[in-house]
Amino acid sequence: SDIRENLTYPIFGQAVRELAQTIADDGYEPDIILSIARGGVFVAGGLAYALDCKNIHLVNVEFYTGVGTTLEMPVMLSPVPNAIDFSNKKVLIADDVADTGKTLKLVHDFCLDHVAEVRSAVIYEKSHSLVKCEYVWKKTDEWINFPWSVEPPVVRREGQILDA
Ligand code: 5GP
Repeated sequence: SDIRENLTYPIFGQAVRELAQTIADDGYEPDIILSIARGGVFVAGGLAYALDCKNIHLVNVEFYTGVGTTLEMPVMLSPVPNAIDFSNKKVLIADDVADTGKTLKLVHDFCLDHVAEVRSAVIYEKSHSLVKCEYVWKKTDEWINFPWSVEPPVVRREGQILDA
């Protein structure tokens, strides 16, 4: 199918406020927002302001890619968060989408070993996700275009002379 869920920056701004409102209404007051880079960083930043939480952490997760292959499971890249920083804390994991849910499950399981309580917030969740997040802005089964990754990286232009 060539149907796409197109998230724009303006709609993202609304989505992250609505997601935060749902979390606030539920009475969950996280001590730490743990973002999953890179897409989750946008979500975590918005939630941190909306929930008035000044403690943001970051974890890098990638599906390990060999020579043209992707392994079955994602891996957490170093540095992994310090378990001591997390002990007895209420953590909110933030990501852009739970698709297979494997990425969120990896981070969620890591947190379970170290924290008082952990919940997850995503903009999108797909119906086949093996993780059901506590807070979801919208359910979809389409491929999502995110505003931060829909365009390729910028490349240096030749002949751009910038005066000091
Ligand atoms: P997972 O399958 O582990 O839940 O998702 C892993 C990562 O794949 C997501 O964090 C996201 O970066 C990427 N991904 C999964 N589904 C989509 C999608 O529909 N659109 C885009 N742009 N990325 C996706």
